[in-house]
Amino acid sequence: MRSRPRLRPIVFAGLVLALAFVVPVLMAADQAAPPAAKAPAAKPPVHAKQVKRLLIRNAMVIYGNAEPPFGPANIAVEDGLIARVGAVPRDWVADAEIDAAGKYVMPGIVNGHMHLQDERGGIPQPFQYEMNLYLAAGATTIRDVGADWEKTKKWRADSNAHTLIAPRILAYERIWAAKGSHTPALVREGVRFAKAEGVDGLKASGMDRDLLEAFLDEAHKQSLRTATHSAVDESTAKDWAELGVTSIEHFYGVADAALDGIQDFPPEHNSSNEVHRFGRAGELYIQHNLNREKLSAALDLMVKNRVFWCPTLSIYVASRDVIRAQNLPWYKEYLHPTMERYFTPDMRNHGSYFLGWTSTQEVRWKKTYQVWMDALKEFAVKGGVVTVGDDAGFIYSLYGFGQVHEMELLEEAGFHPLEVIKMATSNGAKMIGMEDRLGRVRQGFIADLLVVNGNPVENLRLLNPYGTDVLTYDGKVVNNYSAIVPGDPKAKVVRGGGIEWTIKDGIPYHVPTLMKETKDMVSQARPEAAKKR
Ligand SMILES: [Zn+2]
Repeated sequence: MRSRPRLRPIVFAGLVLALAFVVPVLMAADQAAPPAAKAPAAKPPVHAKQVKRLLIRNAMVIYGNAEPPFGPANIAVEDGLIARVGAVPRDWVADAEIDAAGKYVMPGIVNGHMHLQDERGGIPQPFQYEMNLYLAAGATTIRDVGADWEKTKKWRADSNAHTLIAPRILAYERIWAAKGSHTPALVREGVRFAKAEGVDGLKASGMDRDLLEAFLDEAHKQSLRTATHSAVDESTAKDWAELGVTSIEHFYGVADAALDGIQDFPPEHNSSNEVHRFGRAGELYIQHNLNREKLSAALDLMVKNRVFWCPTLSIYVASRDVIRAQNLPWYKEYLHPTMERYFTPDMRNHGSYFLGWTSTQEVRWKKTYQVWMDALKEFAVKGGVVTVGDDAGFIYSLYGFGQVHEMELLEEAGFHPLEVIKMATSNGAKMIGMEDRLGRVRQGFIADLLVVNGNPVENLRLLNPYGTDVLTYDGKVVNNYSAIVPGDPKAKVVRGGGIEWTIKDGIPYHVPTLMKETKDMVSQARPEAAKKR
């Protein structure tokens, strides 16, 4: 740890050196209190405006590999890259400066499973709405696993050129299946077609074993990474892991690999009926014939063959608590009417299957989550790499909000918040093959950074774009285990937290501004949507 440059003494003026000793004391007592004295600062950044040199001053740093936070430290960004961490030469003058005293800086989040959407159920929805919410939740890189390819190509290019305010986009598409995928030869042809089209990777679902062999063999030949949503199929996670898929999404295929036989579907089961499909999916990990030894063996194989697991816990969570999911407080201001309509139970819309949803179905899902979470924990303990994705835009999960909920659920699965942050940053970078450039607060890495109001290791929910409740004493944010006498009127709850700045490629995006724009998009769309009903 000490060999890294970031912990070398701060070489700013003596005043700043003194601060370095004062701030930790203040932070221990009260994380929100900035020091009284400070060096003359450059002007703060302007939302979405690129500067050559950006300085983040006095930040506590979460590095991204599960090491504990350190600081306060300065982070110098130049030409979109992290130029220095900790020690910034005196003659290095910033064009803009963020005062991060009392704040934490962590790497930008890699959302490993999402979908680019500019409509829901055929009704338009502003693409910027989705991009604003993901940036506001701290996603600086998103792996799209299925969208309109022609649009995606343009969005990806515009994001790279910074003409679109959006995270960095990686496109893992299904276009390989465009020409038909019912023979091994067609599958191979489709994979080559997708490569020529310029995809970053391939997304697949359950396949017959012979087709799967062709798919992964050709993907390897074309040097394309792959992601699979494998569910209730001839092939299970075991097949995908054996043949070298990059990542397994969701949960189904892993449990399918652990059954002695098949899932006990009742005779009326119809896979095209989503009430049936998602109802029974919630029984998968609690099947009487789920063999724990087989489950461990499947996990072992995934670890051995370096298969990533992007579980998307948050996308199914409405199934275990639908009333909560239908009444999230941020819907009031931030739920676009197009999405609101799409979420409404309706068998025509994918994931809107809550028609007569029962308490028994919820209980089964809750129990399934317990086994699923145990499997995730076992996988990670054995050396498997878990990543964060939210798959939002379905099932009452809203872009970005789902991402922070995913992190909360990973903590519930038994991981330390520092491990969860690692999953969301350096693990995600590894899954997309960018671990040499992304996912750590490291000199030379791409300057994708989040400036968080508070310490996400203490409370992951601080990353919620809506912010969260924090305890204040006499107007200052304090830890809620502080020694406050019951009844003390100086103790109050306020909305705090949130990310202040999401920095992508060194460009600072001001999260309160993004959220204001998002709120405006929603309030402007509502009267028109109401008329159409
Ligand atoms: Zn998905």
